Amino acid sequence: MQHVVTRPQPPFRSADGRLEIHQIPSWLDNLIWLAVCTETGAGVVIDGPEAKPVLDYCEAQGIELTGVLNTHTHPDHIGVNKQLIKLGRADGLSITGAARVADRVPGLTRGVDEGDTVQIGAVTGQVWLTEGHLNGHLSFLFDDLIFCGDTLIAGGCGFLFDGPAAKLHHSLQRIVGLDPATRICGAHEYTQDNLRFAWFVEPGSPALKARVDRVWALRAEGGCAVPSTVGEERDTNPFVRGHVPALQAGLQARVPGVDLRDPVAIFAATRALKDTKQHREAVSDADLGVAP
Ligand SMILES: [Zn+2]
Repeated sequence: MQHVVTRPQPPFRSADGRLEIHQIPSWLDNLIWLAVCTETGAGVVIDGPEAKPVLDYCEAQGIELTGVLNTHTHPDHIGVNKQLIKLGRADGLSITGAARVADRVPGLTRGVDEGDTVQIGAVTGQVWLTEGHLNGHLSFLFDDLIFCGDTLIAGGCGFLFDGPAAKLHHSLQRIVGLDPATRICGAHEYTQDNLRFAWFVEPGSPALKARVDRVWALRAEGGCAVPSTVGEERDTNPFVRGHVPALQAGLQARVPGVDLRDPVAIFAATRALKDTKQHREAVSDADLGVAP
């Protein structure tokens, strides 16, 4: 299967330099994150559909895999656990997931919850409970980086599987409440479809147009538009812009009758509208002012 990203992000560091982050494309559009402590060399993989590309990458780069952090229990996030176990490579690994869904995290060695901390070598991160996509969904914060699984996916958000909308709305608002420079490491490259939808509900936004131009240029070269920043998401992601008059007007044009006094209703209507996929036909590349 040819991944949508053919030129992954080169390794980059957290602002404090204590973690080096590697991006490993997997399946069609999953992004596996491998975070390495620059002091100890310990490497921890955050989610993934499969283990082989991670093991191959670690071997090629001389990285010692010491653990797994799971944001949630969908197969394309815990597949890496299952395969590590099957290959006999899970022994001695620290496998961390949500305590509240402990029975669904293969090989779990440590259950965590909101307010706990996690380690990558000598580096300590914070655990947030960010539900809405799935019950027990966690995000992990390290310095200026947040690994948020399928909660905020560049330019958009995850599906409401367990829901309800109020939980995902809250989780997203919490993420975009971080410093604007915070980099958001979501688990999929869906940015172009997400921004096409953003244009459907907020056409003509200059910040959105600028992001579209950047992202289309990058993706045309096979590059990856993830991570994005909190600042970019605040300016252009329709799922965190329910308070913005232009977004409200655009949404009401598509979904008459939505209660604009209720932030959760706005979020829920936005999510439901995207689920119809109308934007894929309604917003052309010409509308976006980009080459197809
Ligand atoms: Zn998921």
